[in-house]
Amino acid sequence: MTEKIYEDPVLGPVHIRKNPRARRISLRVNAARRISLTLPWVVPYRSGIAFLESRREWVQEVLGRIPERPAPDPAETERLRAAAKAVLPPRLAELAAAHGFTYNRLTIKNNVSNWGSCSVRGNINLNLRLVTLPPELRDYVILHELCHLRYMNHSPQFHALLEQVCPGHRTLEKQLRAYTPRGVK
Ligand SMILES: [Zn+2]
Repeated sequence: MTEKIYEDPVLGPVHIRKNPRARRISLRVNAARRISLTLPWVVPYRSGIAFLESRREWVQEVLGRIPERPAPDPAETERLRAAAKAVLPPRLAELAAAHGFTYNRLTIKNNVSNWGSCSVRGNINLNLRLVTLPPELRDYVILHELCHLRYMNHSPQFHALLEQVCPGHRTLEKQLRAYTPRGVK
């Protein structure tokens, strides 16, 4: 079974699959807003795309009924916040001391836009969901922010410093992409 991703100009990515057992074209939108089109083996992709185009309005209507993100579970968020408050401040202090960094203040944030950030005043923000990551990725994010205390950019000097305190950081950076929220500032 092969899958292709078609970038529809209006709808965005559409996952197209050919299924030998399918007897007709079917178009689905799931709760995560993923659009999938299943084609019988003999139906060419261009016919599938024509079908999709004829049903764009329907897809948009369905997408309109799905909330952008599932509503966060307050109890789960509180549990994570408690875990984050227990784990992140001591770990940040420990890693800062180990590598000679001095930061001003830590704020634990609940956001979806980044794992962490560092301000020019030396304040570090860490996402409470860091406690859900494997420890080496959590440490990578913390060390990344600590290195921004010296370089407020992603220059080669920044990466050289980060490599010194977090060997193999490029690999960790790639591994982190498999998790949301995306991006470490
Ligand atoms: Zn950064």
